[in-house]
Amino acid sequence: MSPLKWRCHRCRFEIADREGVVYCQTWKIHKASTPRNWGERTLAAIFAAADEARWRAAHVACFAEGEGQGYAWDIERLRDVPGLLEFHFHVAEKPWAVGTDLNEFTYAAVKRCWAVAS
Ligand SMILES: [Zn+2]
Repeated sequence: MSPLKWRCHRCRFEIADREGVVYCQTWKIHKASTPRNWGERTLAAIFAAADEARWRAAHVACFAEGEGQGYAWDIERLRDVPGLLEFHFHVAEKPWAVGTDLNEFTYAAVKRCWAVAS
């Protein structure tokens, strides 16, 4: 099975080992998923914030200076299904993970692994 390839969502170029991460900027998660923080925000604002709390792949060099990655996982650990599942179950234990698109993200990545293999 060939290793899963990742493309940077910022520059669109492929990410080599030790050059990138899969990350979720956790400050966006908390805004999106904690009901007590919803306050008087409109539903549209809540859904917009939830949309920001997504798992993405990017080159470390593509982050702006001083921009935090949030919760990040080295890209070279996410090249196959066992690596993806290790990532998934590790993150799924975090109470804030429910406020992200973790399930959809992992499922899409696993499907790409299978597509690469077949
Ligand atoms: Zn990039």
